[in-house]
Amino acid sequence: MPSLINLTRDNEIGANCYCLDFHRQRIVLDAGMHPKRAGNDATPNLSPAASHRTDAIFLTHAHLDHAGCLPLLQLTQPDARVFMSPPTFHLAEPLLFNSVNVMKRQREELNISEYPLFTRRDVQETMKKWQACPLNRWWSLNGEPLADSDKYTLRFRLHHAGHILGSVMVELQTADRRILYTGDICLHNQTLMMSAALPPGPFDLLIVETTRGAQPTERGITRGLIEQELIAAIRTTFQRGGAVLMPIFALGKTQELITLLHQAMRRGDLPADTVLHIGGLGKVFTRIYDETADFSERAHRDLELMRDIRPQIFDLRKIAKFKPKKKHLYLLPSGMMAENTTSNLIAGHFLPHEENSIYFVGYSDPDSPAGRLRRAAADGERVTLNPRHGDHPIRSEVRHFDFTSHANRENLLNFIISAAPKNIALVHGDTDALAWFQQEIPRQLPAANVFIPAPGQRIEF
Ligand SMILES: [Zn+2]
Repeated sequence: MPSLINLTRDNEIGANCYCLDFHRQRIVLDAGMHPKRAGNDATPNLSPAASHRTDAIFLTHAHLDHAGCLPLLQLTQPDARVFMSPPTFHLAEPLLFNSVNVMKRQREELNISEYPLFTRRDVQETMKKWQACPLNRWWSLNGEPLADSDKYTLRFRLHHAGHILGSVMVELQTADRRILYTGDICLHNQTLMMSAALPPGPFDLLIVETTRGAQPTERGITRGLIEQELIAAIRTTFQRGGAVLMPIFALGKTQELITLLHQAMRRGDLPADTVLHIGGLGKVFTRIYDETADFSERAHRDLELMRDIRPQIFDLRKIAKFKPKKKHLYLLPSGMMAENTTSNLIAGHFLPHEENSIYFVGYSDPDSPAGRLRRAAADGERVTLNPRHGDHPIRSEVRHFDFTSHANRENLLNFIISAAPKNIALVHGDTDALAWFQQEIPRQLPAANVFIPAPGQRIEF
């Protein structure tokens, strides 16, 4: 009987990792690192998977909370093949190399003795088992392409998930059963990433993310409207002689936002002499958006982001002498303003000056420095972004613009209903978000078995 074990340590947005036993094959879906925890606590609980040989691992996309522990899992399962989309194949390597550097730094700064959890050499070795699989066609679990008419016992297909470059959903099929794992999924068009391409149901098991389950979608609020609000806010900042800091993730949001801002400059909605800055890792990922444009599912393929937009690369070595310049936009990591990241280190130059602005364009965890800043700004209080630098008064403008790359809950619910799954595993959401889907789905699919898989517990279906 097929079964699923949730290998995350809690039901939340954490270190995504799910173990699936299906048709005598052991399959692991994603191997993420928890964005808020450190050391062994940030890893999935891999011990339930260690009892048995893993045949295949699927990596849905190259965000740290899905990919950050892939080498660790592979070191315990050296024979497992790892399947991913062609763009993810290119993105995952620099992501993991950067993660090694961050872990080495944290070993010194935070005294985490188990860091780094793996080395650059481990990444290079384990990469030999990676395979890039083009989308929308069938593959065997041995990594061979299959024609639709080929015989199979268990086959898989990857579908465009619309979240970031290379993000996919994983469909697994035997003669009489179908399973779909969504990974992170977006059901509206972004600037570069087009909406997910949903495979039609029915499915026997749907493993679905629930990130936005606690956020009702406000009527009439479209992405186009949010874009207009952001551009208008930037114009106002420029008119009062200020600069804008956007704390941002290096992969995904950086490329979406520089494209959106470039288009606004071309239309004349922003001054043509606006200067965009991105971080060094942002540059690495932006190049990969360019290099994979011909074989990825993105809009504006003719736009070469590095060549046509020409963002300046922020020089971390000059940070001691940094001063925000007017009409400059600084799109710098990290989106959560984690301590010792560029956005955290330079925010102190923006906050005391009322002509400047800090604009958030994605999710901020309430416990992160970004979450603290948003709360303090709303409450008119001072904020501590890094205990070593003391607290700051907030005189600059602080705002949030909701450029989410996750499906809103109403769209996701409609998809779930149309896919008519017999079993639905709700994952990748905080308690309120999971609860909303658990309450809403049975109203429209009363016969479906809807469950939130408890960490470490085997669920047969
Ligand atoms: Zn993601």
